[in-house]
Amino acid sequence: MRRASQASLDPTACCFTDILDIWGDGPRAKCFLNSLGSYEEKLQSAWLLPCFDSAYCCQHNQFCCYTGSSERFRVQGPPCVDWSPAGSQQGIHGEQLPTMLASGAKTRVTGSQLVGLENVRQLPGHVVQDAFGPGFEFFDAILSPDQVGFEFMSRERAYFAGVFKEKATWSSDPGFVLQHALHHLQREATPKYGPSVLLCGSPDDIREDNFNLACHRAHLKGTTLSQRMKLPFDHLLNFNERERLKMYIWKFHNHNSDRNLCNFADLACHLGDDPRTGWTTWSATSHAMPTLRRSSGLIACPNSQRQFLLKELYCGMGFATWPFLAHTSKVPMFEVSRPGVWTYPQARQALGNAQHVACVGTFMACALVSSSPIWT
Ligand SMILES: [Zn+2]
Repeated sequence: MRRASQASLDPTACCFTDILDIWGDGPRAKCFLNSLGSYEEKLQSAWLLPCFDSAYCCQHNQFCCYTGSSERFRVQGPPCVDWSPAGSQQGIHGEQLPTMLASGAKTRVTGSQLVGLENVRQLPGHVVQDAFGPGFEFFDAILSPDQVGFEFMSRERAYFAGVFKEKATWSSDPGFVLQHALHHLQREATPKYGPSVLLCGSPDDIREDNFNLACHRAHLKGTTLSQRMKLPFDHLLNFNERERLKMYIWKFHNHNSDRNLCNFADLACHLGDDPRTGWTTWSATSHAMPTLRRSSGLIACPNSQRQFLLKELYCGMGFATWPFLAHTSKVPMFEVSRPGVWTYPQARQALGNAQHVACVGTFMACALVSSSPIWT
């Protein structure tokens, strides 16, 4: 994700490596906080740790100041592993609590007027308030892509926005503003779009994705570059993935539930999971793309006999990966393929960690218009 930011942000923007740097020696501070017994002890000690106002910036290859620009707002996404149902589920006793506390400490140092946070819905609001302190007033909401026009994607998350009371205030009710925005973003057209709406890659896009994929697949190590340019889809899959795909298709056609199944054209199957063991991670019943994860795994579209391209998956997460999308959204195009900057597996991994652009954008836009600076 850091590489992605480094490659996409304006070159004047700093790119820091670890939020724990706010305490200088981050790993040491983390170790110290984790050695303490109770949640309350960790909270109090984090408040007492001395904070630094600069850290190593990999964009400028030097130490840069956190408070170098007059910061109106910041967006953070502390690790969710302690709260996620697929993670450690240790909650406030988890190993990553110091990163949440560091998020609060850093925002206190930068004195940002407004801060936004994304995490899994299981993160309790009081942890955010505890980490940032009484100087902040938070509002939160659970948002999923289907509320902002991306009904074919799954990424339900909790979003928090807090004003730093010394510098800003909620001038309108952010909850009301968000409801108003969501009302207008609801797609009225029916039927709703399924994952197949994302299959907009050109033949060149498909060839490029196949080639990049082939270069990083263990079972294709012996193949030449020219062979990799024209491998058919089933050759791109390893033995296990081919078997899983067959089983997904069999299960789809022999599904004996009366639940409303998606069209075969909209069937998207996560080949990292094995349907023979009961893990059917697919769009058949949810009508949405299987959750994208950090550990990646291919998502196949059996009807089109190909995988969903990385460019298409990023597009589903709200990134403008084609010129017409960038033009319509008035943002720079997001380039998925960045030779020399990040590798194809790194780009896949970053996607699994990404916030949904339309969700975080809508939420933060509502928070921004609902808050006003306090002029002194
Ligand atoms: Zn810098």
